[in-house]
This record gives sequence, C-alpha cells and structure tokens, in this order.
Amino acid sequence: MGNVIHAEPTDLLAVIRLRRGVVGECRRVSHLVPLPAEGPIPMQLTALCGEIILPSDAEVLNRIGGMPCEACLARQARREYRALR
Ligand SMILES: [Zn+2]
Repeated sequence: MGNVIHAEPTDLLAVIRLRRGVVGECRRVSHLVPLPAEGPIPMQLTALCGEIILPSDAEVLNRIGGMPCEACLARQARREYRALR
C-alpha cells in the first residue's frame, strides 16, 4: 500500500473508502483507518470514527478524495495535537 500517512512511528493511517455498490453514494466518505505497522491486515478494520470496515468492501485511496469523513478528520486533528505536546 503506497498511501499511508505516518501518524506516529508505530501507527499507520490509511485512507479507505467503501466500494461503489457496498453502500449508498452519500455514505461513501473517506475514512482514516489505523493499520498495524507490521503483520497482516486485520479481518476487519475500525476507522477513527468507529466505523467498522471489511477490507473486501473497501478501496484504499492515494489521498483523501471525494467527501472526507468529518468524524475521522476531527479525531485525527486531536491525535496530532496530542502528538505535538
Ligand atoms: Zn470515519
């Protein structure tokens, strides 16, 4: 996966969106999903906002595209703030 953001040294964030047809267009927002730095991709992913995402239902984006998930962005902003302190 070439599109991860290094949030913290041990914590990778992927930008993941549910595939077309899995959910309605209005729910196809770009979630920020923490991934383990090592090991296989888990069977199910949990976005920062708490949304449960199955990897088979999702596509990984090169950047935040379309409509970002506002709850994920808000949580990420708080994480970055904590990291700076
Ligand atoms: Zn989200």
